Amino acid sequence: MSAFVIDAFEFCRSNGHREGVTPVAEMSRLNKDCADHSGEIAWSVDGTTSKQGYPQITLSVSGTVQLVCQRCLTPYAFEMDSSTVLMLGKDDEHADEIEEILDDESIDVIVGSRNCDIRDLIEDEALLALPQVPKHEVCPDNKLLDVLKSEKPSPFAVLKK
Ligand SMILES: [Zn+2]
Repeated sequence: MSAFVIDAFEFCRSNGHREGVTPVAEMSRLNKDCADHSGEIAWSVDGTTSKQGYPQITLSVSGTVQLVCQRCLTPYAFEMDSSTVLMLGKDDEHADEIEEILDDESIDVIVGSRNCDIRDLIEDEALLALPQVPKHEVCPDNKLLDVLKSEKPSPFAVLKK
């Protein structure tokens, strides 16, 4: 059995812990959304039992990936730092039941697996951590564009003359 495949229920019951670093190049779903395959994601997975008595997994991912800014279409470095709490149900019905009892939007309830590849969980978490619309806070070329815009007289100003 691969070191990445866990029995999710047993992992939580025994307060399991895994951590590691995975190159973005090895995450095929994640790097499809990236400008290139550079960088790596540091991650950790912790199992515990919630105060309500449900198996609970905390996933954390951090690292820097290259995304394409949707405003100026150039790549920029996005710093990812995210963590999520997952509760495990035995099946769909049980997961729905837990969701109803918890009544907490910030907690995701999934169906736990006795054959769970944590690399999939980590990649899911990294994908969720990406911005919906990636863009620079301030695009590097914007200043230049603004200068050009302000230098060009408006058609109305020209007409007045
Ligand atoms: Zn930009």
